[in-house]
Amino acid sequence: MTTLVAEESVARMVAGAGEGALVVVPRLRRGRAKGWEGLEADRVVDALVAAGPRAVVLARGLDADPGAAALPALGRVMGHRVVRLPRDPSEAAWMIAVAIHPGFAGDYLVRRLEALAGIASAGGALPRRAIGAGGAAVPALRPAVLGKWAACAWRACRRCPGGGAEGGRCGRCGAPIGGEEP
Ligand SMILES: [Zn+2]
Repeated sequence: MTTLVAEESVARMVAGAGEGALVVVPRLRRGRAKGWEGLEADRVVDALVAAGPRAVVLARGLDADPGAAALPALGRVMGHRVVRLPRDPSEAAWMIAVAIHPGFAGDYLVRRLEALAGIASAGGALPRRAIGAGGAAVPALRPAVLGKWAACAWRACRRCPGGGAEGGRCGRCGAPIGGEEP
């Protein structure tokens, strides 16, 4: 099973984590209302080394979580594949929960993750269910079904070497996938 790496502020919202497939980068909390400290680079490197060279990094974008920028940056430098999590924390936690589920795994795992990342909040015609307090709605399908769907739905991105599902966004750079040629 492929090991995944995520930082603590979203990983701690994931139910059922801790089965060995997810390495969490520890992060300090500033206080109840003040959010989280930025990630410390040495903790990120420790987690990436512990996860091994085949691990995939899951991280929210710079706009959603500037304090976590060290994770995708160091992940790329150290040769890991990096997939962008949805901006909304509860959607990001949902995606991690799906990603670590044994039923989701299979061939082309990074493509599956990229397709999943780009349709979490919008895009695609999948049935939805509401999660969290922020009005997010994620696909209402079991991880095994989502995994098969994502493997079939992946399309190459026109802007970067990544991709995503038709009607969603690229799981690497965030560009829209599909539609008319620009
Ligand atoms: Zn892209």
